[in-house]
Amino acid sequence: MNLIFLGPPGAGKGTQAKRIETLHGIPQISTGDMLRAEAQAGTALGQQVRAIMDLGGLVSDEILIAMLGERVDRPDCARGFILDGFPRTTVQAEALDAMLASRRSRIDAVLLLLVDEAALTERIAGRYTCARCGTGYHDHYKQPRVPGVCDVCGSHEFTRRADDRRETVVTRLDAYRQDTAPILPFYRAKGLVHDIDGMADIDTVSRAIDHALAQAKAAGTVTES
Ligand code: ADP
Ligand code: ADP
Ligand code: ZN
Repeated sequence: MNLIFLGPPGAGKGTQAKRIETLHGIPQISTGDMLRAEAQAGTALGQQVRAIMDLGGLVSDEILIAMLGERVDRPDCARGFILDGFPRTTVQAEALDAMLASRRSRIDAVLLLLVDEAALTERIAGRYTCARCGTGYHDHYKQPRVPGVCDVCGSHEFTRRADDRRETVVTRLDAYRQDTAPILPFYRAKGLVHDIDGMADIDTVSRAIDHALAQAKAAGTVTES
C-alpha cells in the first residue's frame, strides 16, 4: 500500500503518518526529516538545504526527486510506504508517478488533511519532538504522559525546529498555496483523494483516516495491505 499525506505545514501529517507506520508496518518517509538529517550532517548539500529550509522556502525538485527515488528502492519499502511532505510541487508529483510506473507500482490513496490557517500557526508554534526517537509532541495538544519524559523512549531531551517560527510559517503557507495545493487536481482526477477533517482532535482524525483507508480498500483502489 502506497500512501501520500498531503496538507499544509502543521496539519498533522507526521503525527498521523507515524501511527499508520506502526499500524500497517510500512515506513513513513518524511522528506523534511531526510533534509534535516542532511543539514545536520553538515555536507555541502546539507548547508545549501539548511539555508533554504530556515527561510521557509522549498528545496529544488531535482534534489528531492533523486532523494526519494533512492529511498523507495530500499528493501523496507517492498510492501509499500507512506509519503509525508512529498510531493510538494506538480513536477515532483509527475516524477513520482513515472518513478512508480517504471516499477509497476502506483499510489493507492492520498489523505488530505484540511485545517484552518489560524490553527496551523498555533500548532506549529507549540510543536516539539523527542531528540532521541523523533516522537512528536505539542505544548497544549499532545503532552507526554509524564512531564519532560518521552512516552516512547523515556528520553528527557526534546528539540524544536529552527523553521517553526511565526515569521517563517507565513512563507511556508505561501509555498503550500502556490506550489503544493495545485497538485490536488492531479490526484483528484485519478479519484485518489480522501478529504479528512484535520481540525478534530488527534484520535478523531486517526479514526477518519482508518475509515477512508477501509473505503479505499472496499472500492479496490488499494491493491495490497
Ligand atoms: P505536519 O507533519 O503536517 O507539519 P505535525 O504532525 O508535526 O504536522 O503536527 C503539528 C503539531 O500539531 C504537532 O505538535 C502535533 O502534536 C500537533 N497536532 C497534530 N495533529 C493535531 C490535532 N488533530 N489537533 C491538535 N494538535 C495536533
Ligand atoms: P511540515 O511538517 O511543517 O510540513 P516538513 O518537515 O515536511 O514541514 O518540511 C520542512 C521543510 O523542508 C520545508 O519547508 C521545505 O523547505 C523542505 N522540504 C520538505 N519536503 C520537501 C519537498 N518535497 N520539496 C521541497 N522542499 C521540501
Ligand atoms: Zn523518544
